[in-house]
Amino acid sequence: MAAKRDYYEVLGLQKGASDDEIKKAYRTLAKKYHPDLNKEPGAEEKFKEINEAYETLSDPQKRARYDQYGFDDPTAGFGGAGASGFGGAGFGGFEDIINSFFGGGGRTSNGPHQGADVEKQMNITFEEAVFGCKKRIRITVDDECMSCGGSGAESKNDVKTCPKCGGRGRVIMRQQTIFGYTNVEAQCPDCNGKGKIITKKCPDCNGKGRVRRTKEVDVNIPAGILSGMTIRVAGAGEAGFNGGPNGDLYIKIFAAEHPQFKRDGQDIYLEIPLSFSQAALGDTIEVPTVDGNVSLKIPQGTQPGTKLRLRGRGTKNPKGGSSRGDQYVICNVVVPTSLSKEEADIISQLQMCEKKEKKSPWEKFKSLFK
Ligand SMILES: [Zn+2]
Ligand SMILES: [Zn+2]
Repeated sequence: MAAKRDYYEVLGLQKGASDDEIKKAYRTLAKKYHPDLNKEPGAEEKFKEINEAYETLSDPQKRARYDQYGFDDPTAGFGGAGASGFGGAGFGGFEDIINSFFGGGGRTSNGPHQGADVEKQMNITFEEAVFGCKKRIRITVDDECMSCGGSGAESKNDVKTCPKCGGRGRVIMRQQTIFGYTNVEAQCPDCNGKGKIITKKCPDCNGKGRVRRTKEVDVNIPAGILSGMTIRVAGAGEAGFNGGPNGDLYIKIFAAEHPQFKRDGQDIYLEIPLSFSQAALGDTIEVPTVDGNVSLKIPQGTQPGTKLRLRGRGTKNPKGGSSRGDQYVICNVVVPTSLSKEEADIISQLQMCEKKEKKSPWEKFKSLFK
């Protein structure tokens, strides 16, 4: 074993430190190196060292002997017993000790606390995502027992104030701890800190106050929701403990894609094919939107890739508000792959015209190289 460090040094104190200073230093360090909180290598060793130091310095007799003899106390083997007690036992049991030292600051398992959250996934259609919808989802959770209202007792008369603690839920106990015998306030063992005992258990939940139940939850999916977003239904998770609030239900939404409409936030994109003549001369067409067909003016001389906007034909904001995004219409100009005789004749005429006037895009391009 490496040379032991001076106990005052371990706690970062001077030799004449007051009891309060020792206690304060110990709390700070024990919290910092508690193996449940600190997973760094060496933290556990440090925690043991801190506890060992505190065990001695918090006890006036041990401290006096240590001040006089240091580690060479002829009357007792220092350190060995206290420290080895930590090794094999596992750290679960120390939580109570730590809690009692920290004034029960930590959330104890028997106080009121929130039930667990529940996570689910849900598939919806493209239209349901755009316009919103109401859904009903089935979840299986630990829920409050309806027979006893969560009390765990068969009737109201079967709930009695705990005689051991008088309803306080905590008792003063003389305990042997790693710090020696001390009076500590601990959770009442008879009622597990609840302050009440049940004389006759509810048969439906066997006194637990909770039962596993499949329940249906109504969910409002807001209009405009995007795939991957999560909806929270407050209080729809598992039942709280000892009067604590219920957990929440979180539903991750997967919205189906539409074969033509593509979404980008609140905007919707739609690619449309235009013929050369529509693009060149302009046209007025009926374009599909999520609201049905809407009239759209294709301007004369529309280029491939032109983006035309249909204001307000996108989706609402799923976070609220009534304004809607836009639909963008992307114009593709489609070159025919087969032509009728009549079409071929007309296009030939166009070509001759272009050559004569030397104003085809190709003629203009070629002139750049002369
Ligand atoms: Zn009690
Ligand atoms: Zn019950």
